[in-house]
Amino acid sequence: MKEIYTLADFQNWDRQKSAPPIRLGVLGDPIAHSFSPQMQNAALRASKIKVGYAAFQIAKGELRDALELVREQDFMGVNLTIPHKIAALDFMDELDENARRVGAVNTIKIENGKLRGFNTDGKGFARAIREEFSVDLRDLRVLVLGAGGAARAIALQCAKENCERLVIANRDLEKAKKLVEELRHFFAGPKVLGPVPRLQAIAWDEAAFRFQIANLDLAVNATSLGLDRADAAPIPARLLAPHLMIYDTIYASGPTAFVSAANEAGARAANGLSMLLHQGALAFEIWFGRAAPLDAMRKAL
Ligand code: NDP
Repeated sequence: MKEIYTLADFQNWDRQKSAPPIRLGVLGDPIAHSFSPQMQNAALRASKIKVGYAAFQIAKGELRDALELVREQDFMGVNLTIPHKIAALDFMDELDENARRVGAVNTIKIENGKLRGFNTDGKGFARAIREEFSVDLRDLRVLVLGAGGAARAIALQCAKENCERLVIANRDLEKAKKLVEELRHFFAGPKVLGPVPRLQAIAWDEAAFRFQIANLDLAVNATSLGLDRADAAPIPARLLAPHLMIYDTIYASGPTAFVSAANEAGARAANGLSMLLHQGALAFEIWFGRAAPLDAMRKAL
């Protein structure tokens, strides 16, 4: 199997020989860094499913053609990553309720030539938090940093699981406010939390973070800050406290800046590998209707 396929390879798909045949993949740009092929191929091997999963370098303007080829070439499904998750909404024949609410698709299942869109990021996040910290979202006061695709999936999951409190901070504050309004109806119940609002958008600044910390249990980085190793932590160590759990959706070998800041402050912390694992396991479950071999997938990561 080649490392990475392009749209041109896809257009001459009959010439691509691989065993087992590739009928699953991930489409993105850039795609070279993706861990999904190694994780999903390990899952397929462990489950004795004779299908391969490959990475496809697909630029923004190529998504429509790529999805047409996915359909024509009888793929079982694909994952989507940057920059396709939102654009894909326009090309789905059917959209799962959760993907519609998040406004992004990360998993497609192809059935009878129809593209069905799902989003497994939120549920994958909830499973990751349970695995890393042995807690459920419903017991937590959560700060979500970001208001893009990943942040929307995470915030919606927290709201659905009736978390104690949800605060959203984003560099573009209007986006955080809009997300809060979309989630408001989840927080209309009788739960009262004292002097701080249960649902709130806050500005991306030190004073706002400092004010919030005492009333939070979990802070989640769902921004792209940290993708570049030179990026600073979204919240500096001096503002963090030992009672906090820190989750960085960014996965990297070695600690991210946010995980290092948490360690410095004596707080528990984890990076996004567990979310990657569980969102991938949920995609496998959607494609094959059976539990994913988590141990094999974890080992491959
Ligand atoms: P989007 O492009 O949709 O959103 C990016 C977010 O990052 C926005 O909220 C944006 O703020 C914010 N942002 C970007 N640069 C900065 C900065 N310099 N300072 C502060 N905020 C910034 O991306 P996604 O939501 O798809 O992805 C976000 C992150 O989530 C990525 O790093 C990705 O690796 C991770 N992820 C991890 C997964 C996993 O399984 N572990 C799954 C999916 C995503 P603004 O609106 O102001 O521009």
